[in-house]
Amino acid sequence: MTTQDAGMTQSSVRSANLALVLGRIVANSGSISRADIAHQLGMTRSTVSRLVDDLVIGQLVEEGETVAGARGRPAVPLGLRGGTVISLGLEVNVERLVATVVDLRGEVRSVAQRDVDVVAMTPAEAMTALAALAEEALREEAGEDVRVSGAVLALPGLLDRDGRRVLRAPNLGWEGAEPPALWDFTFNGGRIDLHAANDIDCSALTVIREDPGGSFLYVTGEVGIGSAVALDGRLMTGRHGWAGELGHVCVDPDGALCGCGANGCLETVAGARFLLAAAGQPTMDALVEAAASGDPRTLAAIEHAARSLGIALGAALNLLDVSTVRLGGHLGVLEPWLSGPLGDELGVRVMWARHSGIEVETVSEAPLRSAKGAGLAAQSGVLTDPAGWIAPLVER
Ligand SMILES: [Zn+2]
Repeated sequence: MTTQDAGMTQSSVRSANLALVLGRIVANSGSISRADIAHQLGMTRSTVSRLVDDLVIGQLVEEGETVAGARGRPAVPLGLRGGTVISLGLEVNVERLVATVVDLRGEVRSVAQRDVDVVAMTPAEAMTALAALAEEALREEAGEDVRVSGAVLALPGLLDRDGRRVLRAPNLGWEGAEPPALWDFTFNGGRIDLHAANDIDCSALTVIREDPGGSFLYVTGEVGIGSAVALDGRLMTGRHGWAGELGHVCVDPDGALCGCGANGCLETVAGARFLLAAAGQPTMDALVEAAASGDPRTLAAIEHAARSLGIALGAALNLLDVSTVRLGGHLGVLEPWLSGPLGDELGVRVMWARHSGIEVETVSEAPLRSAKGAGLAAQSGVLTDPAGWIAPLVER
């Protein structure tokens, strides 16, 4: 091995270790010390200390007030630093455009949004409007030291692997569009690259941030039914990034025609449009009201949706061995009525239900969840390669 090889190996070990240490701080921001990290990663305290010092100088991590640690020893809690490295989390949906600025702590620092009929716009018009919103959202953050790690656009559709081209987006009609090619944006003199990502995957990233390391199936009722799988705190995206299409799992081969072209998908029973039609209600608010007042047609429609959800979820849980289900969107809102029949179906269908138990929880309503998750996705480069981000400051 030449000296140069040894040097490269050393620097790649340092890069990998910086990422490991930062990963521990992401998972326990504000409540982890150097000693905790050393213990968790099996590293020496002095190695961890040096790495943490670099992350602090590099402005990714900050130290809190000293507190009494284990056995009374003083400990300095470490947390992610807000406001030094930020990202743009963007969202395009059928009825609105959103730009958020998200910091490393996962906090949304500013939001600019416009309610608009996106379907009536061309992708180019929408992307121009989005860039104006991004500029507005960034205006408050324009300090000289601020760095933008990137921009991710959450959209309701399937994308190619590189996050460039939209393959399917029936609700938007953006098939074949390339949002990154329609995006030209600079900040503090530097070009900010854009990637596109599936909106449900983005919202799942937000849910994962709230439960680091968690394993769960996230199912959310939107225009359709979206879902995503988290295993040990990582999004399971599949071979091409297309995993999690629970909404198009068949629950009735003789069922109604779905927007995807198949019959009897879960979406055709539990998706908002179909559910409202079955219940004979004009809006989700009206449906909730009708359910609360015991309207038999509404309750029957919800029960049918719950049983169908149980069929699809039962298959998914049998395949995945995940025992927590998080319901969002209208499925979360309807949980009080869904949970009984859904629990019955899962209890019968999931092989191991009697041995592990299945938790069905609701995820609180948060209209910015996709945009925020897009912002988190735009930080993944910082978290996987902190060495590159801190280098200019550490070497100063
Ligand atoms: Zn379908």
